[in-house]
Amino acid sequence: MLVKSIPFLASDIASSFLAAFEQLQFSVIITDPNNGPNGHEFLYVNESFKRQTGYNEAELKGQTPRILQGKGTDVKTLNTLKAKLEREEVFIGQAENYRKDGSAYIVRWSILPLIHNGETVAYLSVQQELTDYLKVQEREYFLSQALNQSAQAAMITDPSGQIVYVNRALCAITGYEPAEILGNKPSMFKSGQMDADFYEKLWATLASGQSFEGVFINRSKEGMVYHEHKVISPIFNEKGEPEFYLSLSSDISERVRETLWLSYKANHDALTGLMNRNALQEKAVRAIQEFKQKGSTVSLVVADIDDFKPINDTHGHDKGDTVLKRVAEVMKTSIRDTDAVGRWGGEEFCLLLHTDKAQAVRIADMLREKIASLEFTILKTPITVSFGVAEIKVEEDFDSLFKRADNALYEAKESGKNKVVSAP
Ligand code: GH3
Ligand code: MG
Ligand code: MG
Repeated sequence: MLVKSIPFLASDIASSFLAAFEQLQFSVIITDPNNGPNGHEFLYVNESFKRQTGYNEAELKGQTPRILQGKGTDVKTLNTLKAKLEREEVFIGQAENYRKDGSAYIVRWSILPLIHNGETVAYLSVQQELTDYLKVQEREYFLSQALNQSAQAAMITDPSGQIVYVNRALCAITGYEPAEILGNKPSMFKSGQMDADFYEKLWATLASGQSFEGVFINRSKEGMVYHEHKVISPIFNEKGEPEFYLSLSSDISERVRETLWLSYKANHDALTGLMNRNALQEKAVRAIQEFKQKGSTVSLVVADIDDFKPINDTHGHDKGDTVLKRVAEVMKTSIRDTDAVGRWGGEEFCLLLHTDKAQAVRIADMLREKIASLEFTILKTPITVSFGVAEIKVEEDFDSLFKRADNALYEAKESGKNKVVSAP
């Protein structure tokens, strides 16, 4: 469709070009190179252009591309354009244009002089609207910036498990550079401290299209083990298929260490490092429950250092502490991992043994001998310990078992100390 009829565009060959332009998705404009009263008047615009701008033919008559300009149009770009056209060169650029309704749009734009017999007879301009494309690009840029600046560690994997994106925080936690991570699988961070069940549950959850949340024990490039609280979510495409998996996590190692330390402190004696009274009693109560359910044997040994008070009185409290630590050490290192020893109080200890009474007496006697043979500088006489042993009876509870062992200990003290006495 012609806005203005001029002989040059009336030729057969030109008409067939113009007919083809009507089919294009791009906007095509032909302008008059001769400055009329308004400048470069429109000679021709195609359908796409009219759709894009909202102008009809009548409205464009006698107008120039200046009606497309507005406050966002870059003057520098226009000057470059003019200079190029004067030199009969092609101009390619980007501009912010305005529609009839005032709304702005962005075009990528090529304009060139049409030369005939050595003379510029028209300017041909082709414009592709970029507005939507740029919006998508801007959004992607914005999202990736936001992810990159997030304090949470972010990682994106494709459905095959390959890592396709990591942010700065993830690199900081893991100690790897992005190039060392991308293309690998998250298994590169495994510490070996998680059981297979955990990963099975993870995959089953993701396969069902749901997010998975859990604490991962991973390993950094330098071999440091850390705890990560992680949420992994599938990101679906328009067809509802998982296209990516996004993992967002925080390093909670500090919190885990603190919790472990608090729980350790709550269950252990600060001086000797043995379990404290509460922890040992709880363990014994559980063992007694097991005895009642499964008939496993349980014995309790109560031990008390002989004549400990004079050691403190003669050599000082610090020396007393050293003795306590050495005695505790012997007890801890001489029993099986499945058995347990705790500091019951002062210079008293309690051992939980999964043995019958006869074996418990043997263990107690072994301990008695080991401790009596310890050598201490300053102390002239050996440190000795008295033991009371009792084996759990049907229908008996912890208190009753402890009382019998304690009575046996009392007997050991009464009958000369440094001995093992077992309860009937
Ligand atoms: P017996 O042979 O009858 O067991 O006499 P003993 O002197 O060992 O018993 P007694 O109960 O009279 O004294 C225990 C002492 O243990 C009293 C207390 O000062 C001391 N004691 C308790 N806890 C600690 C501790 O943590 N460090 C030190 N150094 N001494 C402690
Ligand atoms: Mg004592
Ligand atoms: Mg005592």
